Amino acid sequence: MSRDKDYLRLAIDVSRHCPVSSSAYAVGAVLTSLDGEILTTGYSRETGDKEHAEEVAIAKAVNANIDLSQTQIFSSMEPCSTRASKELSCCDLIIKMKIPRVIFCVKEPDLFVTCTGLKTLETAGIEILHDPTDTHMVYAINQHLFPHQEKGTP
Ligand SMILES: [Zn+2]
Repeated sequence: MSRDKDYLRLAIDVSRHCPVSSSAYAVGAVLTSLDGEILTTGYSRETGDKEHAEEVAIAKAVNANIDLSQTQIFSSMEPCSTRASKELSCCDLIIKMKIPRVIFCVKEPDLFVTCTGLKTLETAGIEILHDPTDTHMVYAINQHLFPHQEKGTP
């Protein structure tokens, strides 16, 4: 679906707002209804030091009383399956909120933790799509974390 690509590109654009951190990625997320109405967006550290993009977008939807079981989330990076700073990973949150469909661009590199987000969500019965088309853009935005790597090569 080409609309998936548009929303994924939007999630990547949103990630440009992230405050730079030397110890965390800049990630953007867009939450839409299943028929494509944009509901909320979020980016890393938007409302707090440790916050993840998906978490921010989901929290905004919860505050707006949106039924998350009728939504899908687009993220510039694979939702985390483990995290050091909080009890719930983004995968835990997505499963808990019963979000049925997840689309992401870049597999999380093994820089901080080994991420098994794709597998975790798949196992939970969630439709998960990995579309790496714009990987180079996500790496360019996170270039400060990959000083020795060429753009676009994970
Ligand atoms: Zn996360």
